Amino acid sequence: MAQPTLNGKEKKYVMDCLDSNWISSAGKYVTAFEEAFAKFCGVRYALTCANGTVSLQLALAALGIGPGDEVIVPTFTYIASANAVRYLGATPVFAECKYDTWNIDTKNIEQLITPRTKAIMPVHLYGLMCDMDALNELAKKHNLFIVEDAAEAHGAIYKGRKAGSFGIINSFSFFGNKIITTGEGGMVTTDDEALYNRMKLLRGQGMDPVRRYWFTVTGYNFRMTNIQAAIGLAQLENIGSFMHKRLELARMYKQFLPVERFETQVTSPEYEHVYWMYSILLPKDSPVSRDETIEKLASEGIETRPLFYPLHVMPPYQSNKSFPVSEEVANRGLNLPTHCAMSEQDVQRVAEAIQHILHR
Ligand SMILES: *Cc1c(COP(=O)(O)O)cnc(C)c1O
Repeated sequence: MAQPTLNGKEKKYVMDCLDSNWISSAGKYVTAFEEAFAKFCGVRYALTCANGTVSLQLALAALGIGPGDEVIVPTFTYIASANAVRYLGATPVFAECKYDTWNIDTKNIEQLITPRTKAIMPVHLYGLMCDMDALNELAKKHNLFIVEDAAEAHGAIYKGRKAGSFGIINSFSFFGNKIITTGEGGMVTTDDEALYNRMKLLRGQGMDPVRRYWFTVTGYNFRMTNIQAAIGLAQLENIGSFMHKRLELARMYKQFLPVERFETQVTSPEYEHVYWMYSILLPKDSPVSRDETIEKLASEGIETRPLFYPLHVMPPYQSNKSFPVSEEVANRGLNLPTHCAMSEQDVQRVAEAIQHILHR
């Protein structure tokens, strides 16, 4: 389904950490990774975090979001997007997704805005960016923050600008299956110096930057280690080839699984999808259910996954509200194996197995 590609300088940099004894959260790789990542995203500041969930939490905390506040989050996303809001005592308010892109439907957002709404969290699902112009316009009109959850979209582009450069603060994940990885890890990006300093303070337990062991606020330990950053820096050096490979995989999948029958996220020239996952919807008239398809593929040694279950159907966020588009996409959708060690034959084998199961 997914696997990291560690064929660059990962080992060399990690050995450097071990040889030099710099294995904890101070060290040159942390700053080097942060600086290189900021440059990659086209922003002034980036700050490493322990993972992509706490990086979201850190962003929201720095914006002062807390009890009584509401943050608009798509229901069709990974659960961390909403959990980060809840950790701060704020309330995630769910928005519907669009059938074509599977991303948050801007038209659905305005009706959700209340005097308590503080922010919108667009999630660039599976590597395709949200319609940021429409979101920015709406946010400006209602004086709301935008915090991108770009955990799945390293390097994705919208109208010439990279993911992680649109919101006031934005968040990435470097979990093992993401486009680049540090094992576990996250990053926040921003152009705002005051927010950057605030996040640095909160990330490091609230310790005064000048007076050591003097704590000015209740902070967190959300730091990443030098070893993780060493891996991240080596990964980032190769991100261009990873992105290229993922585009190739998507092109091959589209060739073997025509999009007229196996619908996928609809892109347009303004968007550069980075295909964290190549995902399809099974045809409406599919004779075999999605879950049965997954089982049959598994019996042939092909690992696939259902798309995310919408958050509003799961126990922590159960709600009576219905989101028919998210439910339909989630019910018919399937993530296909997408990683850089795959060959054209691998893609073809997956595609043929799917065609065979459905034509039975
Ligand atoms: C992976 C992911 C996260 C969280 O990342 P972790 O590093 O696993 O904590 C957050 N949001 C989305 C949309 C993700 O896919």
